[in-house]
Amino acid sequence: MNSEKILEVHNLKTVFKSRDYRVEAVRGVDFSVEKGDILGIVGESGSGKSVTMKSVLGILPENADVSADKILFNNKNLTEIDAESYRKLRGKEMTMIFQDPLTALNPLLKVGKQLEELAKEEGVDFVHGKGKKKSDIQRLSELFMDYKNKLVEYKNSLGIMTNTRHSYSKTDTEATFMRMKEDHMRNGQLKPAYNLQFASENHYIIHALVSQDRTDYSSLEQIVELHNQSLDTKLDKVIADSGYASEHNLSLLEEENIRPFIKLQNHEQKKKRSYKEDIGKYYNMKKINVRNAKGKLITAYVCHDNRILEEIKEEVRIVKGEERVYKVFQSASCEGCLYKEDCLYNYNKDTDVEKNKILRVNERYQKLKEQSEQNILSDEGIIDRQIRSIMAEGYFGDMKGNRKYRRFHFRGLEKINKEILLYVIGINLMKYYRFSKGLLKKLELKVA
Ligand code: SF4
Repeated sequence: MNSEKILEVHNLKTVFKSRDYRVEAVRGVDFSVEKGDILGIVGESGSGKSVTMKSVLGILPENADVSADKILFNNKNLTEIDAESYRKLRGKEMTMIFQDPLTALNPLLKVGKQLEELAKEEGVDFVHGKGKKKSDIQRLSELFMDYKNKLVEYKNSLGIMTNTRHSYSKTDTEATFMRMKEDHMRNGQLKPAYNLQFASENHYIIHALVSQDRTDYSSLEQIVELHNQSLDTKLDKVIADSGYASEHNLSLLEEENIRPFIKLQNHEQKKKRSYKEDIGKYYNMKKINVRNAKGKLITAYVCHDNRILEEIKEEVRIVKGEERVYKVFQSASCEGCLYKEDCLYNYNKDTDVEKNKILRVNERYQKLKEQSEQNILSDEGIIDRQIRSIMAEGYFGDMKGNRKYRRFHFRGLEKINKEILLYVIGINLMKYYRFSKGLLKKLELKVA
C-alpha cells in the first residue's frame, strides 16, 4: 500500500521575542503524518506542544518568530507561501481544536469567522435588515455566533458562581437566589439574599457569619473554625437545629471532641405512627449477629416476616467529595411474602415477582445521629434547646421585629460582613449595659 504524507515538518523552531526577553519555545522539531493516521504528541505542560501546532497553522502572535527547513502540507511548502494563501488554507483544509474547555470558545469564534471568510471568497454577501433573504452560510455563521455568545455568557456566570452556588443576582452578583421566610406573594419566589448565621453563648452573639450558601449545613464548620481561630476557649458542645444535621457536621464535631446537640431532620417524623410502623425500614427491623454459610459471624436484620437479611457487601459512595460507607443487606428470598407491597420500594406485583429486599445502611452516620439524639433528649439537651430557641432565634426576632432591620444596607459579601459586625457590636454593647443596670436577667430554665 502506498503511503501518502499529508504533513511533514522539518526542523521547526519557534522563538518568542520582546524587547527584554527571548524564549525558545520550539527547538528543531521534526514529524510527519500520513493520510488516515492520527499522531499523538505527548509532553509536560509548557513543553511546547500547542506552540508547535500553532506554528504549523501560522496562528501565533506577531512576536513569534517561526522558522523551519520545510513544512509540507499536501505537498505545499507552507514556509514559502504568502499570508493570504496561508489564511485560505486555515479552516478549509486545516484547523485546530483547543484542549481546554474554556478556550474551546476560540474554535467556535474561529469557525464563525471562517464561515464569514468562506462567504467572502465565494462572493456571498451577508445581508442585514428586514425583507432580505439570508444565505445558508450567513444563517450558519449567525447560529455559530449565537452559540458563542451563549457560551461566553455561561463562562462568565460560572466564573461568578465558582462551583459554590447555582445562582446569582444580576444586581448584586455576590448574592444568591434563596427561598425566603418573607413570602408576600405566597408563591415561594426566590430572591437574591445572603445567609446570615449567629452563634451565641451566654446571651451574647459570639460569631456572625454571612454566607452565599442557600443551606445551613456548611456554616457549622466555618463557625467552629472561626471559634477555634478567634477565641481561646475550646467548644464543649454545639446546639443547633436540624438544618445543621449532616454526616459531615456530626463527624466534624466528633473529630473536634465537641458534643453534638443537633436535632435530626426526622425528629418530628419519628414520633408518627407511620414512621414506627414502616416495615420496609431497617430501623423497624431487629438487628442480630448470625453465622453465614461459611461460618463467619456477620450482622443481619430480621424482617417483618421473620426472614434474615444478611450483610452481603459494603458500598462506598462519594458525596460532595467525601466517602460514605454503606453496608448492604439482602434477603435470600422474599418469595411468597404477603408484606411485599408494604416492604419493597416501588413494588409492582406484575414485574417484581422475584424481587428481594435490599437495605443500605450507613452505620457510622446512624451512630452519630443516635449520639446527637440521645444528647438532645437528655435533661441538659432539653434546657439547651429551649435556650437556643430563645437566644439564637430571639436575635433574629429582635432584628426583624423590634429594629425593623429586614434588608442589608450594602451590597457585596465584604460590605455586608462589616455591616453585620457593626450591628452585632451594637447589640452586644446594649445587652451588656442592660445586664449591668439590672434591666435584664439571665435565663434560668428547668426541665418540666
Ligand atoms: S418483603 Fe422480604 S424483607 Fe420484606 S417482609 Fe417480606 S420477606 Fe421480609
